Amino acid sequence: MIDVEAVAGGVTGDVTEAEVDVVVVGAGPCGLAAAIAATRAGLRVVVFDRGSIVAGIAGYPTYMTFFSTAERLSIGGVPFLVATDKPTRRDALAYYRGVASHFGLDVRQWEGVEALEPVAPATGHRARWLVRTRTRVGAAHRTFAGAVVVATGYFGRPNRLGVPGESLPHVRHGYVDGHAAWQQAVVIVGGGNSAVDAALEMHRAGGQVTIVHFADALDPNIKPWVRPEIEARLREGSIRGVFGARVRAIELTAVVVEGPAGEQRIPADQVYTMTGYLPETGLLEAAGVPIDPVTGVPAHDPLTMATPLPGLYLAGVIASGFQANRIFIENGRDHGDLIVAHLRRS
Ligand SMILES: Cc1cc2nc3c(=O)[nH]c(=O)nc-3n(C[C@H](O)[C@H](O)[C@H](O)COP(=O)(O)OP(=O)(O)OC[C@H]3O[C@@H](n4cnc5c(N)ncnc54)[C@H](O)[C@@H]3O)c2cc1C
Repeated sequence: MIDVEAVAGGVTGDVTEAEVDVVVVGAGPCGLAAAIAATRAGLRVVVFDRGSIVAGIAGYPTYMTFFSTAERLSIGGVPFLVATDKPTRRDALAYYRGVASHFGLDVRQWEGVEALEPVAPATGHRARWLVRTRTRVGAAHRTFAGAVVVATGYFGRPNRLGVPGESLPHVRHGYVDGHAAWQQAVVIVGGGNSAVDAALEMHRAGGQVTIVHFADALDPNIKPWVRPEIEARLREGSIRGVFGARVRAIELTAVVVEGPAGEQRIPADQVYTMTGYLPETGLLEAAGVPIDPVTGVPAHDPLTMATPLPGLYLAGVIASGFQANRIFIENGRDHGDLIVAHLRRS
């Protein structure tokens, strides 16, 4: 615990200090929704993000379309209207920027949170937490807060295969668009929606695409409007599927897999590992929140989103542990209301 008296006084050396009611860590859709709920309750709120606002969505494939309707992605009661059936990445980026401006949220972009430290009650300080941040030019700031909402999502922590060659320059986790696949042999590792979207887009762009997946078939939750097309491409062989196969190594020109047909080398100019992400629990762990080793879920009460540490809350997909598809924008956007209700009672 830190001793507030020792650091009080505005500026200590080149470290600036401030005090607010609530700090939100992460300006993803669920962090923003929590910040809006707290702002509406009359609390002073600051949001820190180590990247841009909604950095996760900014990193989606360029031409991606959401599976949710716009209404289910809306936050703060601000209507999200699009002229099409489902919003695109670009629609959502504009919408969330607009909502943050509308509520006048104090979003400190490119300022990462490095540590959350409990403030000793013996100091008599109202704040329960000291939040240590650093801007991208290296300036360190300390913010005292009555409560902290951790909404750090999972996009920064790819689920790695753990095989030799995974860090070679032609291997990427995630893809941006299909253009670079033209006349290239592309291996996509994974069998979920992201893998299928990437495979179809790269196939349309003229790539020779192979999907490698450890299960015997594509994931059951493939978007229903996409499934017929990928199944047709796999049937006709214009996209090759290698199922029930594990990647053993990635080489400069091939991916080595082991499956029902034994070991094989699949030629690859480019490799995309679409194997999902893991929750970013580092800050919580360091602060002392227990993480379930089996599920990856940080200890919390789902009715209030409170962790066992007073004044420390979760919002968004960080609360879902290793099963990232349990919580998404549609249901994580309500966490802020639960948190504010709990803050009001405590
Ligand atoms: C291709 C794709 C399509 C999707 N489609 C849908 C859909 O249709 N509907 C739906 O509901 N969901 C969808 N999702 C899931 C959705 O994107 C996530 O559930 C959602 O982004 C979670 O929001 P969040 O606010 O919890 O976290 P995130 O969006 O992951 O935001 C976390 C933020 O925290 C920041 N951060 C992390 N660590 C720190 C730190 N130490 N300091 C400061 N900032 C930090 C990150 O930079 C990031 O901006 C999709 C996901 C993908 C990949």
